[in-house]
Amino acid sequence: MPTNRRVTLAARPDGLPKESDFALDQVDVPGPKSGEVLVRIHAVSVDPYQRGRMSEARSYAKPLQLGDVITSQSVGEVMESNDGRFSPGDLVVGQLGWQEYAVARGGSLRLVPHGLDPPTLALHAVGATGLTAYFGLFDVGRPRAGDTVVVSGAAGAVGQIAGQLAKLAGCRTVGIAGGPEKVRELAELYRYDVAVDYKNADLGDALRDERVDVYFDNVGGEISRAVHRRLSIGARIVICGQVSQYNQARPEPSFHPGALIVYRARMEGFLIGDYAHRFGEGVMRLASWVASGDLHWREDVTDGLENAPQAFIGMLNGANRGKALVRVT
Ligand code: NAP
Repeated sequence: MPTNRRVTLAARPDGLPKESDFALDQVDVPGPKSGEVLVRIHAVSVDPYQRGRMSEARSYAKPLQLGDVITSQSVGEVMESNDGRFSPGDLVVGQLGWQEYAVARGGSLRLVPHGLDPPTLALHAVGATGLTAYFGLFDVGRPRAGDTVVVSGAAGAVGQIAGQLAKLAGCRTVGIAGGPEKVRELAELYRYDVAVDYKNADLGDALRDERVDVYFDNVGGEISRAVHRRLSIGARIVICGQVSQYNQARPEPSFHPGALIVYRARMEGFLIGDYAHRFGEGVMRLASWVASGDLHWREDVTDGLENAPQAFIGMLNGANRGKALVRVT
């Protein structure tokens, strides 16, 4: 039986995580019991929400304990199966963590759609981050053709898809991201009509003439305060994430509720997990846009499980260009 290398939580981060907050260990690979599947992991996802799991603060999911494997969506190949729905050789996606092998209940896994190339798309454009953009934009933001849709974190995993979906819905899109390379990608790869570099522009000036119908908010903080000053009457603010606040001991409020009255606006948060019963619909539509070339994507792949902490810290600092992933094998 092979051994399993795993990245675990060694210490609870204080502010921006450090590499010493993580440990790499090695354990035996357990055999799958009845109803379980043994998966050899090919790639693991690197996501902002993992920062929340490292903290003990109350949230929608239980925190990781010290010594736990870092939680993540992962893609891999079935090695052994005691669940009739899966056979050796199948590619699957599930919450399998930062490790080389995982044993999981069959019911917690999904097959990677046949022919999806590369299969890592099941971790982003045709997986969790694509689904987040899809349900967040269409169900919560409810864009109408001709609307102006502003996306923060626009060059990231969720943001790159949200902007393109808004464009497919006939909207005018404004993307906000950090640095000239990302801003170039906003226009060239993800078809944003307007691209704003929040690190090098005065956001108040850059957004002066905008009337924002839908704000898809991935970051919160100062950027969101600037967007909130440009809402149109009846605007919808989709609270997808607040990544600018995840390393703060005391997150700063980004919104004055009085603005909801002035603009007769709606602000709503959502969690992608609540849409699990509709993942089939979302996967089918996202896969067909990818296949037709209507949906572009970019992944930022780091090689080697041992480099996952570095990729994670880099992503929180904005170093990722596209969806951050780690190739395990
Ligand atoms: P991502 O955008 O690929 O990576 C994180 C990005 O955040 C960085 O590249 C950086 O981009 C930006 N960032 C970091 N610190 C910032 C700061 N202080 N101010 C502004 N931007 C900052 O990550 P993702 O996976 O697509 O996640 C995006 C957001 O969606 C996160 O808030 C995440 O928690 C949320 N999310 C929510 C759900 C849900 O169910 N609600 C599901 C998935 C993700 P720049 O270089 O442009 O600064």
